[in-house]
Amino acid sequence: MELWYTENQNDHLRFSCRVTRTLHVEKTPFQHLAVLETPVLDRVLVLDGIVQTTVWDEFMYHEMIAHVPLNTHPRPEKVLIIGGGDGGTAREVVRHPRVVKAVMVEIDERVIAASRQFLPELSQGLDSPKLELRIEDGIEHVAQHPGEYDVIIVDSPDPVGPARGLFGRQFYEEVARALKDDGLFVAQSESPLFNAELIAEINRYLRSLFPLVRLYLTCVPTYPGGMWSFTLASKRYDPLQVEPISIPELPYRYYNAGIHHAAFTLPQFLNELLDQD
Ligand code: SAM
Repeated sequence: MELWYTENQNDHLRFSCRVTRTLHVEKTPFQHLAVLETPVLDRVLVLDGIVQTTVWDEFMYHEMIAHVPLNTHPRPEKVLIIGGGDGGTAREVVRHPRVVKAVMVEIDERVIAASRQFLPELSQGLDSPKLELRIEDGIEHVAQHPGEYDVIIVDSPDPVGPARGLFGRQFYEEVARALKDDGLFVAQSESPLFNAELIAEINRYLRSLFPLVRLYLTCVPTYPGGMWSFTLASKRYDPLQVEPISIPELPYRYYNAGIHHAAFTLPQFLNELLDQD
């Protein structure tokens, strides 16, 4: 008998893939957690019935959430990652040569444990001596660390459960305070096709707090719609001013100097969405 995973992306759209083995299922204090083995996507991390990452396409997301902000800041020495329990973002941050210290604040230690056991390709960066891992609520952490970080990266799930506050105006105000005077911030900001209103709202909030706010895109085939957005808010540095020569030569699979700039060129429907504000 065939086993299939089906995600209800909304009331009228589902995503399915065949499962060869259920590697792990658990109810943590925060969410339902599963790790599945599949023929095409390799291993898949699922939280509350929503795909968080797959070994097959994770690089398109993790390289873009990390290297775009890290290369926009000339000295990204102290970096905060909020969420990101699978370890993919931490793996990218710690391999950046100008990062001296990264703090990762994840609310659910069970996600980290499952990733260490089943997703070593992603969790490998969690053992870096550059990384300090804290099991806390990221919202409280930013409020308690004013003026501390060069770069803050929010690698959150959709805005539900403990992640809801990571999309709120009050959180963005605390983020602006937790950054140094020339700091910058990036958050995954959901699907341009299905969450346009949320993207516009995030942009509005951030524009009232930062002089420079830009949306950029990647593709993640296993997220709804395939097209995915990040929002970058900066006190000083502009990602479009980055000189290709300043980008470290690392073995990237998706990111490169051309993509760094091209990712900010938006399709017309997004220009219009953001211009309306
Ligand atoms: N890349 C994925 C995506 O776009 O859906 C998100 C990956 S990562 C698994 C998200 C993590 O954020 C989860 O492990 C979750 O436990 C964590 N998280 C949710 N709310 C949080 C909060 N308030 N503080 C810290 N971590 C949080």
